[in-house]
Amino acid sequence: MDKQGIITKGVGGLYTVVADGRSYTCKARGLFRNKKDGKNATPLIGDNAIISITDEDKKIGTIYTIQARRNELIRPPVANIDQVIITVATAQPAFNAGLLDRFLVLIEYANIPALICVNKSDITKVDTGFSPYINAGYPLVYTSTVVGDGLDELKAHMAGKINVFAGPSGVGKSSIINALSPKLGLETGDLSAKLDRGKHTTRHSEIFQLSEDGGFCVDTPGFSSLEITHIPKNVLRSLFKEFEEYSHYCRFHDCLHYHERDCGVKEQVGQGVSATRYESYVKMLQL
Ligand code: GDP
Ligand code: ZN
Repeated sequence: MDKQGIITKGVGGLYTVVADGRSYTCKARGLFRNKKDGKNATPLIGDNAIISITDEDKKIGTIYTIQARRNELIRPPVANIDQVIITVATAQPAFNAGLLDRFLVLIEYANIPALICVNKSDITKVDTGFSPYINAGYPLVYTSTVVGDGLDELKAHMAGKINVFAGPSGVGKSSIINALSPKLGLETGDLSAKLDRGKHTTRHSEIFQLSEDGGFCVDTPGFSSLEITHIPKNVLRSLFKEFEEYSHYCRFHDCLHYHERDCGVKEQVGQGVSATRYESYVKMLQL
């Protein structure tokens, strides 16, 4: 019998596929395990797989088709992400707009919807710093893993999707993932201890199910490198979503919103376009 499911784990050539709420242990058919060139050479977590069940009682099957991917990340290797939850903190570490803008540019370039999670709302609640992002159209949720604020709201945003967390270290990503799924028991806190242990163990990313409503979350944060020099300069402007509506007023259709005359975006800096966002854009252009 055939079933369609999602690959949630892959270790040593054995994959876990969740189909109809049951977990099957599957081998991949030799064809794409050995294929070197094709896009679907190696199954990834997040892949939609068609499996044939070899033993329903023992829950064993074989993956023989991987469906076309909507997107994929390299680190962690995961396919078909519906949403990146970019996490920052109100404080400890202090909010860094330039850093958030870099994450957002990378996420936009990967063509994945972003949600901004502002954690540690128990320390301070600085609303003004985040209004540019709300104006740009990003959904934003305040959370605290200490007092439990916002976690249900975050969960509601994650329902029915494959979610990946991203963001600077120390903001509370592991703490949030643990709060969403206590049995996972990810290590939190001291960065040097985390890095040290990371050296000695091979981490296999895994997707876990949030609840019965079918939302999934990857247990390893994404976008570990903030390198953006591979993004063409003439593409950057499209990754700042709020520029779009004002760019119609630019004199030149290929306006970079930089040194050009009669630029609709520059005219809006301090109004429709936040000054800090524009500053981040110019810094990225100059890299
Ligand atoms: P990660 O590096 O982003 O995974 O961050 P961690 O989850 O390891 O958390 C870093 C530190 O922040 C730890 O000491 C946590 O206990 C602390 N922390 C996490 N969430 C919160 C929160 O909501 N409020 C406060 N005050 N501290 C938090
Ligand atoms: Zn312009």
